[in-house]
Amino acid sequence: MQDRRNKLDVGATGRDEPPTLDPGLGHLERPELATALPPQGGLLLLNAGIATTAVALAINTFALFVFGQDILGWYAPPVPAGAIALGAAAGVGYWGVALWRGVRPGLGLQIGVVIVAAVALLTANVIEWIVAQPVWDDGTPMGFFAFYDITTRGMSFSTSSHAPPKTVGAWGYALRAVELAGFSLGSIVPLRMLCRRSYCESCGRYLKHRTIGRARFGPKGGRPLRRAARAAYDAEMESAVGAAEEKMSSLVEEIDSGRTAEAIAALESPMFSMRLERGSRQALVLNVGVEWCTGCGAGHVGGQLVVVKDPNRALAEFAAPVTKAMAQELLRTSKR
Ligand SMILES: [Zn+2]
Repeated sequence: MQDRRNKLDVGATGRDEPPTLDPGLGHLERPELATALPPQGGLLLLNAGIATTAVALAINTFALFVFGQDILGWYAPPVPAGAIALGAAAGVGYWGVALWRGVRPGLGLQIGVVIVAAVALLTANVIEWIVAQPVWDDGTPMGFFAFYDITTRGMSFSTSSHAPPKTVGAWGYALRAVELAGFSLGSIVPLRMLCRRSYCESCGRYLKHRTIGRARFGPKGGRPLRRAARAAYDAEMESAVGAAEEKMSSLVEEIDSGRTAEAIAALESPMFSMRLERGSRQALVLNVGVEWCTGCGAGHVGGQLVVVKDPNRALAEFAAPVTKAMAQELLRTSKR
């Protein structure tokens, strides 16, 4: 696993080493993906996923026959947005059971989900043929492959309501392939979201998470284009990162030494306001949250320093283990 913690990238500041947190700070562990599926959750997970997949495809077939709308054919060119969205809806069942039963989505499970989705979509095409009961001009029933070929070549893009829609011909097969890929890959999106969540290995459960404080740091607005202004901006950014890290370590110190009241007081100070978010244009935000296991009660207070514009990349992270009682006390601060 690549360690991307504590990295700082504020542009050309001429500094090579990223500033690091104090070595005394705890580390937030992101568990590796499990390779095996626990037997207790496997069958239930599969059934739930197949059920939501069937519902999603039934909705599409219904929309097609009743309103003439093919959700699979909605594009945000060139992205098959409708297919991906429908796939994501289909994958909700896997996600729900995995979250509930604490199943880690390994690679094998993800591949399985993609295959199930692809088979389900092809099955839906057969069901469409059965429902449509197509016939040739002379009244003889049309076979599935002829029906599939005609509907595929007959697909059309409507760009405006005035121009008559043009059919795509053989390109229809490419569209079908793109839609199949979009739907199948879309169906693992909900499961993959779970990969990022913290997990209690001993209980086999996902941790609950709640944000209890936010603090803004750093210069306002984006990085300026002019060179002179940029240097000042970078310097300000660097000192802001330092200030945020200092704030983090003092929080960790208070939590580690059991001074819950002081930690709560810090989180309740005007600096850590949940409402500060909207008005401020400062570039950095320090999110502090509590994560805890509903099984054993083990938990930690974690913090992430991120650039507001790029919230997935953490400049610094910390985690300090807390007792169940302390976690509950800290959680109460977020309700005030
Ligand atoms: Zn646990």
